[in-house]
Amino acid sequence: MAEHLLIVEDDELVQALLAAYLKAEGFKVSYAGTGKEMLAILNTEAIDLILLDLGLPDEDGLTLTRQVRARSSLPIVVITARKGREDRLAALELGADDYLTKPFDPEELVLRVQNLLGRSRGDGAGEVAARNNSAIEFDGWKIDLGGRTITHPSGSDIMLTNAEFNLFAALAKAPNRVLSRDFLLDAVSRDDEASSDRLIDVLISRVRKKIEAEPKKPKLIVTVPGCGYKFISAP
Ligand code: CA
Repeated sequence: MAEHLLIVEDDELVQALLAAYLKAEGFKVSYAGTGKEMLAILNTEAIDLILLDLGLPDEDGLTLTRQVRARSSLPIVVITARKGREDRLAALELGADDYLTKPFDPEELVLRVQNLLGRSRGDGAGEVAARNNSAIEFDGWKIDLGGRTITHPSGSDIMLTNAEFNLFAALAKAPNRVLSRDFLLDAVSRDDEASSDRLIDVLISRVRKKIEAEPKKPKLIVTVPGCGYKFISAP
C-alpha cells in the first residue's frame, strides 16, 4: 500500500510542486494549508510522514512540531524559508527528523522522505536487509534495529524520532568505544549544511531524557570531553 504523506504548506505553488513529485514516486498525498487543518487530518487519517512548512498563517510550525511529537513518533520533515540555524536547530530539538531550506531540490526531498520511511533503495538495500534481522541487548534493554524500536527493561517501548534512533543505534553498535561528533553526524545526517556539533549535542540530550534514569547524570551515554560520546555497556 502507498505510504500516506501529509503536506502542510500554505503556499499553493510549493504545495503543487511537492505533490507532483511525491505522487510521481508513488506516494499518497494529502494537504493542509493551516495548522488547524493539519491537526484535523491527523485525527482522521493514517499518516506516515508530515512535510511541515514553518511559516503558516495560524500556527508556527515549531509549535506544531512540538504538538505532534508530544503524541507520536510520526516522522516530520520541516521545510522552511528561514535561513537561520537557530530555527533549524529548534525544529530538531522539538523532535523534527529532518529539514530542508527553500528553495529545495525536489529529488533530494524525495530521497529524504524515502530514507525516513526506511525504504530500501539502490546500494542501501543490502544494509536494510541486514538490519532487519539484528537486535542489540544490554542490561535488560533491547534495540530492534529492523523494527526500529527500543524496549525498556520494564517491557515498555521508548519512542524515539528517526534522528534520535539513528544516533542511539550508532552508539549502541559500538559499546564502550568513544565516537566523535563527526562520526555521529554521519550516522544521523546526510546534510552537509546541517552538520554541526550542536546538532549531536541536542540529539544526545533528547535521547538521554528518554533512556537515562537521571538524564543530568547519564550512565548509559557518557560525554568524553574533547572527543565525543561513548555508550557504556556492562560486560
Ligand atoms: Ca508558508
